[in-house]
Amino acid sequence: MIRSPFRNAKPKLILCKVCKVNRVAKAMATVCGYECALKKVELDNLKKAAKREQEERAAHRVKKQAAKKHGEWEGDLQKLVNKWVRVVRDVNEPCISCGTTKTVQWEAGHYIAVGANNTLRFVLDNIHKQCHRCNVQLSSNAIMYRVALVKKIGVERVEWLEGPHATNKISIPELQAEIARYKGLIKLADKEVV
Ligand SMILES: [Zn+2]
Ligand SMILES: [Zn+2]
Repeated sequence: MIRSPFRNAKPKLILCKVCKVNRVAKAMATVCGYECALKKVELDNLKKAAKREQEERAAHRVKKQAAKKHGEWEGDLQKLVNKWVRVVRDVNEPCISCGTTKTVQWEAGHYIAVGANNTLRFVLDNIHKQCHRCNVQLSSNAIMYRVALVKKIGVERVEWLEGPHATNKISIPELQAEIARYKGLIKLADKEVV
C-alpha cells in the first residue's frame, strides 16, 4: 500500500476573500460558497468598469489637449501667471492703482493691456495685483497705475514697457513649459505658507 505523504496533513485555511468571515481551504477556493462567489463576480465587474471609465477619461484628456488651440494655451498660462502675481509675489501688497487693501476680489491687472500688446502679456513687470474696481470698473485705472508702477520698478522699466515691442508669438511647447513652471512655483509657495 502506498501512503500519500499528504494524508495526515491538515488543509491550510484562509478567510473567504469576500465576506472575510468564513474559512476555506486555500487549495480549494478563495470564496466560501455560492453567495460570496456571486458577490465576487459583481465586485470584479465594478472594478473593471471603474478601470475602463478611468482609461476613457485619460484618453479624452489626451485628445482634448491635442485639439487645444494656441490661444487656449495662452489663456491657461495667463491664468497661472496672474495667480502667481496675486497670491505669491504681490500677496502682501495693496492694489497697485488705488492702494486699497480691501476688495470684493483680488485680481492681477496688466499695465499695457493684453489686447494692446500680446508680447507683454506674460512679462511680470507688466502685471500687478489690483482691486476689482480698478481692474474692471476703471479699466485698470491707468494714470494711478503708472504713478505707483514708477515707484515700484523705476521709470526706466516703465518706459521700456511703454516702448515698441516686436510681436513674436510664443510656441505651444514653450507655453506648456511655462505652464508647468508656474504650476510648480504656485505649489511651492502653497507649501511654504503651511
Ligand atoms: Zn464568504
Ligand atoms: Zn484699486
